[in-house]
Amino acid sequence: APSIVWFRRDLRVNDNPALSRAIAGGGPVLPVYVLADDEDGDWRPGGASRWWLHHALASLADALDELGLPLVLEQGSSIDTLRRLADETNAGQVLWNRRYEPAAIERDARVEAALRDDGLETWTGNAALLWEPDQVSNQSGKPFRVFTPFWKHLRSLPAETPVLLPDSRPRAPDTVPDGLAPEELDLLPKRDWADGFSNRWTPTLNGASDALQAFLDGPVNRYGEQRDIPAEAGTSRLSPYLAHGQLGPRQVWAAVHASGAVDRGVGYKYLSEIAWREFGYHLLVHFPDTPTQALNEKYRAFPWSADEETLQAWQTGLTGYPIVDAGMRELWATGWMHNRVRMVVASLLVKHLLQPWQDGARWFWDTLVDADLASNTLGWQWSAGCGADAAPYFRIFNPMLQGEKFDAEGDYVRRWVPELADLPAKHIHTPWEAPAAVLREAGVRLGETYPEPVIDHKAGRERALAALAQLRNG
Ligand code: FAD
Repeated sequence: APSIVWFRRDLRVNDNPALSRAIAGGGPVLPVYVLADDEDGDWRPGGASRWWLHHALASLADALDELGLPLVLEQGSSIDTLRRLADETNAGQVLWNRRYEPAAIERDARVEAALRDDGLETWTGNAALLWEPDQVSNQSGKPFRVFTPFWKHLRSLPAETPVLLPDSRPRAPDTVPDGLAPEELDLLPKRDWADGFSNRWTPTLNGASDALQAFLDGPVNRYGEQRDIPAEAGTSRLSPYLAHGQLGPRQVWAAVHASGAVDRGVGYKYLSEIAWREFGYHLLVHFPDTPTQALNEKYRAFPWSADEETLQAWQTGLTGYPIVDAGMRELWATGWMHNRVRMVVASLLVKHLLQPWQDGARWFWDTLVDADLASNTLGWQWSAGCGADAAPYFRIFNPMLQGEKFDAEGDYVRRWVPELADLPAKHIHTPWEAPAAVLREAGVRLGETYPEPVIDHKAGRERALAALAQLRNG
């Protein structure tokens, strides 16, 4: 009987345990994707992710076509759709790779029970992680809350290798349901916001392997020094491929080793970042409330002062802090932001501006092509000082110093905040301190062509510390 392979955030054919297993079974194989927004709870894919998903599905369909298999696209309830397709094709089993978001875990359990009720077999595998959250615990059998021992523990485990596609040529069922055309899923944004994404990204399976290869051909060797410099392409930019499962961490792990980077002594720094991704999933599974609630309970009553106008200034890159505005505009224009700058913009929002970290996380969710509930939650709770192994709240990034240190020549700011492009490096991170003649020469009129800082650094810092003191004193 045919096997249905239910694709989700594993939009690839290589290193895909569910697909490989279905093919190895020898019967006909029917790959299916069901867009089921309502089943992701509050975290249905955001605008930028949907743009990526549209292209990732097209690319998956091409890759499956090369194997001789169709991809059936559907929309609606996962249970109803899978049941109907099983009925139409006389399928005997449904296979998929596990997801770890709380709403997906709950939904998948319901799907599994319903399909079994119908007499179908089900099988699930792991495409998303090196080691799954329930395989990993600390010496007292509890989840890890600190990264370094987590990473040390991971390195002591045997490396997982990518799952190979069987050699046998798969075949499709005799009857293949029509499904929907990609446009009918309506994933592309209505306005022209994402038009620029295509210049920046190749959201396909070939794009994923090319990006991995390009990184291993060069930047990996200087990753330790370059990874904090946002003007450089010093990081791998694999995050959107990992988020959509066009590339799996086992494949990255194996490729980094095969490239010799680990033997040359440079690979582990990079792999430790892949381990941060794993750590995010570990925390999300063990602490499923954390996408909206501080892991550290003491912070749940933090006295935020949520304000729409302040939030908007941040979202639109008009805070008056050049490095922050550059980051927010990079995000809007490309769907991605450099990690160093993510930390700086998050810190400014939750500390200087006293906005709830959840509002920042929500904005990132909608605008990042790599939006990932585990990594986003980890990043925001880290930045807000309320998560596991987080930066303490009282440690407040100084946005000017961050700019001067990591964008010393101002190239990153010049690229994304063109109205400051003619300022000399000395003043580009502190335009409000520049002499009038320098501003005039650069065509900058503060408050007109570029805003004054929304809040003075020192005042913002003191207000943040006062809020912290208020929390501590109950
Ligand atoms: P590289 O430096 O090349 O790292 C390789 C891979 O390791 C990344 O692709 C990513 O999968 C993983 N990784 C690297 N750093 C981290 C990290 N700090 N936490 C978890 N995984 C990491 N990453 C997301 O993928 N999705 C998100 O929604 C997301 N939201 C974030 C929000 C905030 C506030 C912060 C501070 C960080 C967030 N990150 C998120 C983590 C990180 O910024 C990105 O993974 C990274 O910038 C992606 O670029 P890269 O692929 O070039 O990274």
